[in-house]
Parts: sequence; C-alpha cells; structure tokens
Amino acid sequence: MISVEEALNKVLSYVEVLEPERKPILDCLGQVLAEDVYSTINIPPLDNSAMDGYALRARDTRGASESSPGYLVVIGEVAAGSMPAQEVKPGTAIRIMTGAPLPEGADAVVRFEDTDEVNRKLSGGDLSHIGILCQVKKGSDVRGRGEDIAEGDLILKKGKVLRPQEIGVLASLGRSTALVIRRPIVAILATGDELIGVDQPLAPGKIHDSNNYTIAAEVSRYGGIPKILGIGRDSVQSLTKKIYEGLDADMLITSGGVSKGDYDIVKDVLAEHGEVGFWTVCMKPGKPLAFGVIRKTEGGKEKKVPHLGLPGNPVSSMVTFEQFARPAILKMMGKKLLTKPVIRAIIEDDVVDTDGRRLFARVSVARRGGQYYASVTGPQGSGILTSMAKANGLAVIPENSEGVRAGDVVEVQMLDWGEEQGEVETPIESGPIVSIVGKSQSGKTVLMEQLIAEFKRRGYKVAAIKHGRGGMEIDHPGKDSWRYAQAGSDAVLISSPDKLAFIKSVDHDLGIEEILPTVGPEFDLVLVEGFKKSKIPKIEVHRKRLGDDLLCSPEELSAIVTDGSLDIDIPKLPWGDTVAVADFIEKNFVRAVSREPSTVSGEENV
Ligand code: AMP
Ligand code: MG
Repeated sequence: MISVEEALNKVLSYVEVLEPERKPILDCLGQVLAEDVYSTINIPPLDNSAMDGYALRARDTRGASESSPGYLVVIGEVAAGSMPAQEVKPGTAIRIMTGAPLPEGADAVVRFEDTDEVNRKLSGGDLSHIGILCQVKKGSDVRGRGEDIAEGDLILKKGKVLRPQEIGVLASLGRSTALVIRRPIVAILATGDELIGVDQPLAPGKIHDSNNYTIAAEVSRYGGIPKILGIGRDSVQSLTKKIYEGLDADMLITSGGVSKGDYDIVKDVLAEHGEVGFWTVCMKPGKPLAFGVIRKTEGGKEKKVPHLGLPGNPVSSMVTFEQFARPAILKMMGKKLLTKPVIRAIIEDDVVDTDGRRLFARVSVARRGGQYYASVTGPQGSGILTSMAKANGLAVIPENSEGVRAGDVVEVQMLDWGEEQGEVETPIESGPIVSIVGKSQSGKTVLMEQLIAEFKRRGYKVAAIKHGRGGMEIDHPGKDSWRYAQAGSDAVLISSPDKLAFIKSVDHDLGIEEILPTVGPEFDLVLVEGFKKSKIPKIEVHRKRLGDDLLCSPEELSAIVTDGSLDIDIPKLPWGDTVAVADFIEKNFVRAVSREPSTVSGEENV
C-alpha cells in the first residue's frame, strides 16, 4: 500500500504544464498568464476630476468658508469624454463632471456640495458666478495621470491566474487577447456491463452511469475540457476501442474495473497498451487506483497519454478525483497551488477508522462563533453519492489514528473554496493561531505569558506576536545592524548561531495575514496579542472591574476568559485558570494533525 502523498507525487511526475495559446480575454477566466504584460499607456491618460464640481486653482479658495464664500467667474463646462476648451485663469472656474480632463491652469476640484450652486439654482440666481464654501488643497479630488497604471510598468506577471479583475485590467490596457496556458482536454470513460445512459430506461440489473457526469463536471470546474467517451463494456474489445478514441486528449480518466472482480479488465487492456501501475493507496474510500501511460503512435512518433483509473464506486471515484486528478489538471494548466484549501474544524460526530487507512469523511462544515464545526453527512458507504451531495468538505482522519471523537479538531478539505483561481491564500483560520484580545488593562499580556510557558511545558513550539501600536525599537544604536538601518537599508537581518532577527521598514500597519508568512510554518501554535479586527480566532479577556461589555461581538469570539459572570452563549473560561485556557486552545487550535506522509507498506486485499 502506498501513501496518498506518494501516489500524488507519482501522478504529478507524469503530467507536464501544457503549451500556451493566445485567445480573447473573456475566454481566459481562470487560466494562467503565459506572458508578462507591460502597459503602453497611462491610466488615467490625463489628470481628471474625481467628482462632479468645479475645476479651479486651489489658491483661489484660500479663506473660503460657508460664512464667507469665495466667488469665482464660471467660464465654461467640461463633460467626461470631451476636452476642456478654456484655461482656468486666476479668479475663474470651470464646471466639471467626474472623469472629465482637468482644464489647463486648474489644480483642484471642489465638489458641488461645497459650492452655492444648488442655492443659486433654487433661487433662480446667476450661474455665471459660483460661491466656493471651503478651502481645498492642490490636487484635491483630482485623479492624476498614470495614477492607476503608468506607461512602461509591468502590470501582470507571467504565472498570474486571471480573475475578472485581471481581465478588466487587460481590457483597460486595450488588450483584446492574452497568452495563457491552454486548458487540458480530459477524456472520460465509465466502464461496466451494468451501466446504462441517463436517457435510457432502467432494466433489471442495470444502473444509470453517474461517474461520467460527476467526473466531467469536476474537470470543467477545475478548468479542463471534458470529452466523454461514453460507457466501455467489460470486454477487452469494447474497452480497447473506447480507450483509443480518447487518445487525442491530454489525459484519460476511467472509472471502474480496477478492483479485483472477475470482470475488471481495465488492467488487462491497459497493461497491453501502455505502462500501468495498480496501486492500493492507503486511503478510504478509494483504495484501488490505477495509474500509467497509454502508448500511441502518431505520425510515426510515439505519444504517451497519462491515464488515471479511478475506482467505480461513485464516492470513491469523486474522492480520488479530488486527491489525484484535480492536482494533475491544475498542474497542466500551469497553476502552482495544487492543494485544496484546508481548515481546522471541531468534528461533531465520532468517526471510527480502524483499518489504518487515511479516511476522507464527507462532512458539512458550518461556522459558529468564530469556529468551524464539521458534521458527518449520514451513512458513509462509498456507493452513497448523496453523502457527497450533502457535503461541503472532506474531513481528513489520519491513517493509524483509530479515528476521532466528537469534539476533536480535524483538518477539512473545503470542496467549494477557491477552485477557479487555485490561488486564494489559505484562509487564515486554517493555521494553528489564536489571538488574545481585551480592553486595555484586562491582563492580556499576563495571560499571554502564562500560556506561552504552559505550552512550552506541554512540549509545543510556540510563536508569539504582539502589536506595538506606539512603534518599537529593538536594535541598539551603534551596532552594525543599526548602522545599516541608519544608512537607509529597508530591511536588516542579523543572524547568529542561535537566533535570527529581522527588522524591516513597512509603509503601513501590517495585518496579521501579512505578518504570518514571516513567522514561518514550523510552529505548533501562534499566540497573538491584539489585532482585534483581524479574522483569526479570538479569545477575549473580560474583567468585571472594566464593565460588563465586551470589546468584540460574541459571534467573532471562540471563547471568553472572565472573572465575572456573563450571560453569553460561548465557551467561558475562568480567569486565573491557565490550564483550563490552555486546554481549550490545545483542543481547538494547536496543530494536531500529522502532515508527514505515512510509510505503511505491504499489499492488502481490496
Ligand atoms: P467497479 O470498480 O467496476 O468494481 O465498480 C464498483 C461499484 O461502482 C459497482 O457497484 C458499480 O456498479 C459502481 N459503478 C461503477 N461505475 C459506475 C458508474 N459509472 N456510475 C455509477 N456507478 C458505477
Ligand atoms: Mg465494473
């Protein structure tokens, strides 16, 4: 038996990134850009108005206010799409619409609301003058030429997955086509004498083929082009014929006929026409899996088409598709992120897993109080496709774990997240991270200190992040690193045999999701103090003496640590009982699932 990781690595080693094609931008959604795109224009092309108002010289508004307006002569009007005919001279203004080019001489715009225009109109007054009711700065409400995109800039990099916004950017650059990695054509074949088409009436002993449809829909969902070959019968002749119809594709996916039943002849056919491996993969559902290449001669040249033989049971074929076919399709499309988005959730049912294989349990995931919960979607037989239809995730129960108990934390592959792009950042909730928030003086830092010590005692690798709102200085004047920073270096790293320090100038107050990559992935727990607005799980410290109200709303909190009594329906932990708080965090947030591929060996009967 081989591990899921070994099987995946082998599959991936047989597929290559496909060649690029140029096509209309609207057909490129979800595909990977195969060229660097530079701008040949400025966007916006000219300075223009961000508001409907009056274009004027900022210095002409000096001292203007509601009680003492500054009056200017209105010398014209300019709408979006036309060019101003006049120049703004001292003491004059031009009525301007959003997007219209800023007239010569003007350096700011005052919006209608800050003029007396409405009052003038209401009183039937003279519109040849305008009263300005506030003082504005140069550049106010003006969008500068090239502010969005400057001529010559690299706008989209090779490798970028095109989303609607990138397609819009391409359009704004005046590009009607883009060079993208082409979509793979995936030939799909169901096998079995019991199968009939969806439009045929059921006869005794027959069932409708569903795998062709599930798999074709999956192929489309991940960006491939499905080519359904139909149903292959359980005869060498029928299968051979069908398989050869699929050999102009980039990949062939069959379902059924890979287990050890008498009529399971896919393996015989494949063994004759290609190189094929039959694996038992350490997973459930989906133990039997075939993988190899089929040889074909085309114009005197030998061609090899990768073939993935999925098990026939509808759930098994889908789960194995997700684990092996999906990454292969994404790789062919040039995508870099091949793994499914994973979150950590509290499982609400016991799941028994006694045969040592990695179990993919179909679960329905819901989010409550800042925490994900996963419940098993009824009977889990590998023929019960509705258990998949009810699910939005696959809970991964590690091999050799005996299963999990209700209340345990499990990793869940989210089936419906981020497929189109394959590039979404792993949601931050998925990390082993929790933030301690609370009002000032609530004792957050004391709790942090106690928790760090407690988790070290429990043998975990802990990182702590603190938000220093008032700035900080950690490098000492006179040190070499300090001198580098003084000389203007934007980042300074100091490395010694047992420590690494990293000081970097930043241009804004970083969000926790921007900081985490710097921390690195090796920690079992990242404890954060503060960042109350971030989306990471939060535990609030509540103290009686600071009032009954909370800093965060209860829906955002995973728990409260309190010395009072609060009537709120989320877990409450006693202030002062570090062990209880650590137990809660250990159960819900500490990295629990082993990421190491298992190395179970030996063959097992299906
Ligand atoms: P096999 O892997 O061919 O032994 O098939 C295992 C089980 O999956 C059998 O009960 C088949 O009837 C069922 N099965 C195989 N292919 C399909 C299909 N295309 N649609 C629905 N069920 C299938
Ligand atoms: Mg069969």
